Amino acid sequence: MATTEQVLHMMDHYSASNYLPLPIVIEKAEGVWVEDASGRRYLDMLSAYSALNHGHRHPKIIQALKEQADQVTLVSRAFHSEKLAKFAQKLADFAGKDKILAMNTGAEAVETALKMARRWAYRVKGVPENQAEIIVCDGNFHGRTLTITSFSSEEEYKQDFGPFTPGFKRVPYGDLDALRAAITPNTAAFLVEPVQGEAGIIIPPAGFLSESYELCRQQRVLFIADEIQTGFGRTGKKFACDWEAVAPDVYILGKALGGGVIPVSAVAADDEVMSVFEPGSHGSTFGGNPLACAVALAALDVLEEERLAERSEELGRDFMKKLTSIKHPDIVQIRGRGLLIGIQLAVPARPYCEALARIGLLCKETHETTIRLAPPLVITEEELDFALIRLQEVFAGQ
Ligand code: PLP
Repeated sequence: MATTEQVLHMMDHYSASNYLPLPIVIEKAEGVWVEDASGRRYLDMLSAYSALNHGHRHPKIIQALKEQADQVTLVSRAFHSEKLAKFAQKLADFAGKDKILAMNTGAEAVETALKMARRWAYRVKGVPENQAEIIVCDGNFHGRTLTITSFSSEEEYKQDFGPFTPGFKRVPYGDLDALRAAITPNTAAFLVEPVQGEAGIIIPPAGFLSESYELCRQQRVLFIADEIQTGFGRTGKKFACDWEAVAPDVYILGKALGGGVIPVSAVAADDEVMSVFEPGSHGSTFGGNPLACAVALAALDVLEEERLAERSEELGRDFMKKLTSIKHPDIVQIRGRGLLIGIQLAVPARPYCEALARIGLLCKETHETTIRLAPPLVITEEELDFALIRLQEVFAGQ
């Protein structure tokens, strides 16, 4: 077996350097725990950016994977599979929408929703050809494709990747007046994260989601919620939009939908919107493959059976309370919803994450100065106390 040093060396040599991972090589994982090559155990407080809400290798999800792997894994959309039919029904019911369109990664699902919104604007709303506009927010993160990169407000994400896709307008996150001013008769959609994850766990002002939804409804603008990071119980509700009783026109889903096992993403919407796709207009070779669908079906079952959203709300509330007892001049703010929590620092967060890793807690900085804490939702109170003690220790020592 390769040593940590050998793995890091091979990565340096053969892999593009588009990430800056902590120098930990994970060999094994189960539930909320991971283990490196030397047998050291760490508590996973990142959950692969919320893709591991069910924990690592949940037995029911792995069983579904194995059973499906023994039957059929890929049919492409040239043929049908029972698993895609069942998955479509289950996810549509779960999201309260007529239909779903299955893809693989989050960014692909975002692209799907953007194409859908533009077509809806031309074919249903009556926007003149090629004039559709989509409004997004400052600080957004919706993925890394070229079109999504086009409307990012982050210079680092965009540098030397132009020319960019036109047709997007940005408004400050949480600013209803700016949104109102940006809407024109050509506006197709407002694309928003109900909590901005990558931007540093930014929670919009109370009422913003419901008021912006209502504004969109009045102006005949689709309200598209990117729940890729916030969905499936992460913030203590099924969807983060539920915090303001908002049922968006379009949900974009991913990450935890794949149970931490396989990429599964989807867009969910009612017929009026979904029907803009006819055969030939959109697709993906692996999107909706039976292996992914079997896993996603099990992931949705586990979410409900183990009440992961409720757990996230209860445990998150309690953990936040305990976290706020940590006092340190570097801590500017602790904010969160459910088990999606950010510790905003006045200094770079990376050294804190490195120090935490040294004492058995894995997490990652986001936006340089925020420590993101997003453990698997199957975590116990005792395991959260393990995390709390390590955080207390690191802040006491800095
Ligand atoms: N949208 C949001 C809100 C995300 O947090 C992410 C990933 O972090 C994405 C989209 C992109 O998902 P993926 O990395 O699966 O393409």
